[in-house]
Amino acid sequence: MTSELPVKESPKKKVSSPKKTSLSKEPLLVQTLRGMRDILPDEQPHWERLRRFLSNACQEFGFQRIDTPLVEYANLFIRSIGTGTDIIDKEIYCFETRGGDRVALRPEFTAGIARAYIEHGMQSLPKPVKLFSTGPLYRYDRPQEGRYREHWQANFDIFGESDPILDAQIFQIAFRILTQLGLKNIEFQVNSIGTPEGRKEYRKILVRHLESQRHKLCQNCKERLVKNPLRVLDCKEEKCAQVTANAPKSADYLDAESREHFKTLLEYLDELELPYTVNPRLVRGLDYYTKTVFEIYSTNNDRDGKKASLGGGGRYDGLIKSLGGEATPAIGFALGMDRLVLEMIRLGVKPYKESRPKVFLAQLGDCAKKKSLRIFSELQKNDILVAESFGRGNLKSQLRAANRVNAEITVIIGQKEALDGTAIVKDMVSGTQEMVRQEKLFFAVKKILKSNSQVNHNGNGNKK
Ligand code: AMP
Repeated sequence: MTSELPVKESPKKKVSSPKKTSLSKEPLLVQTLRGMRDILPDEQPHWERLRRFLSNACQEFGFQRIDTPLVEYANLFIRSIGTGTDIIDKEIYCFETRGGDRVALRPEFTAGIARAYIEHGMQSLPKPVKLFSTGPLYRYDRPQEGRYREHWQANFDIFGESDPILDAQIFQIAFRILTQLGLKNIEFQVNSIGTPEGRKEYRKILVRHLESQRHKLCQNCKERLVKNPLRVLDCKEEKCAQVTANAPKSADYLDAESREHFKTLLEYLDELELPYTVNPRLVRGLDYYTKTVFEIYSTNNDRDGKKASLGGGGRYDGLIKSLGGEATPAIGFALGMDRLVLEMIRLGVKPYKESRPKVFLAQLGDCAKKKSLRIFSELQKNDILVAESFGRGNLKSQLRAANRVNAEITVIIGQKEALDGTAIVKDMVSGTQEMVRQEKLFFAVKKILKSNSQVNHNGNGNKK
């Protein structure tokens, strides 16, 4: 492995150095970069539902959240993921800082989390150490639906246990989240690629097989044959798939311990009745994987006949040591959040519904306006969600806004009420209204909300 940075891809549009031309003089493009997107408020309820299930899963399975920086030293990723992988050779965003550090935007989570594990001495924590992370990742790939240059993942890692029951638990967590989200037809594909030592022998045998049919491989795979021959196995090109269909299988060349590990994992998966198939061509291609590798698919989201993967992961027993830490077995997986949200929308999964404000606060006149901020915060302090339209002076338009949010109560403070310390409380359900002292406002509001909720609870939505 090398710590040299890969050659930077030459950008299509030449950006001159800031020293020569002022960036502020360049034409301003008011748009996101290619392959990046805004996640607008409309889409957020689906994201929120997903975030809530992720957070439930963390609680249920004992994961603690960790947030690591978006930017790390570039060679952390290069040493962990390895050269010869698409991520490092083609997709990583590398740049030099003003201080001369060669850094990269994280293309995946595991390397940064492994770095944090070592840096913060987590090897002394009781095992297993279970860490959860979520956030954006960056890969300079060709964008298309469900594949972005900035995408989000939810990442689960377990450090310190080598028992295959932990591998099975990782599958169980993924399955729990996906089924809670309402995604059906989930399929795991699983394989074992053994240990790096054992893999050397397999690699030789595989290369011999591939070399004999080199002429049939795509250009990328001809290069992979030299740099990372295992990657040829999961090439999506039809002609390469034909060459690899009869290729020797990694699972047939496992050392005794890896074989036993794989066998036991499959027994656990059977016990859990998880839907899986063994895919001998699945390798995932990153240098740090050992033994178990897997991917998760929704079997009904074929795009052009290709299934889009929703997540994937594997064991990486050698990574912590290779980065300078104590030998620590580990396993992890990540779910692609953008793809999960697309899948939720496609399947009509209900988005998260925020609690809506039940009270609208309207004000009329300067004096009332001044009081309204304080009244707003008094109600909030008592856990009452309040909507308002403070920027408007006209009562009619404020009442229209109250109707739009479907408020159950409108509190109106006019000039007179502001001066004598009262407020009008209008029950929008029954249409009745009363005058209360401002210091008793909270009780009056609570009373109406309670009576409305009892009416709703008894199935009679109409108090009128
Ligand atoms: P990986 O880190 O490549 O194993 O990816 C884990 C999951 O993240 C995949 O199964 C996808 O669901 C998702 N994913 C990976 N790359 C992208 C991308 N460029 N855009 C959107 N989602 C992605």
